[in-house]
Amino acid sequence: MEHHCRVCGLYIEDAPWGEDGKSPTYEICPCCGVEFGNEDYILESVRSYRKKWLDNGTNWFINKAKPLNWTPEEQLTLIPEDWY
Ligand SMILES: [Zn+2]
Repeated sequence: MEHHCRVCGLYIEDAPWGEDGKSPTYEICPCCGVEFGNEDYILESVRSYRKKWLDNGTNWFINKAKPLNWTPEEQLTLIPEDWY
């Protein structure tokens, strides 16, 4: 089961694409703001959404959820291999 956001790599408690990887929760990533099952549906849109997020300065969608000492570089290494 994949627990990391396809766009930004954040660990998500409820697997964003469900137990079978095919049942998105349609929750919003608190970090990059992607909607699971929407903009992360195909690789092309994952990459373009990620680029937009990076270009805009890697802001958190829910700023109060941002951990202290958080760095995008570290989190980006956690993006699932198939979605990089
Ligand atoms: Zn994300």
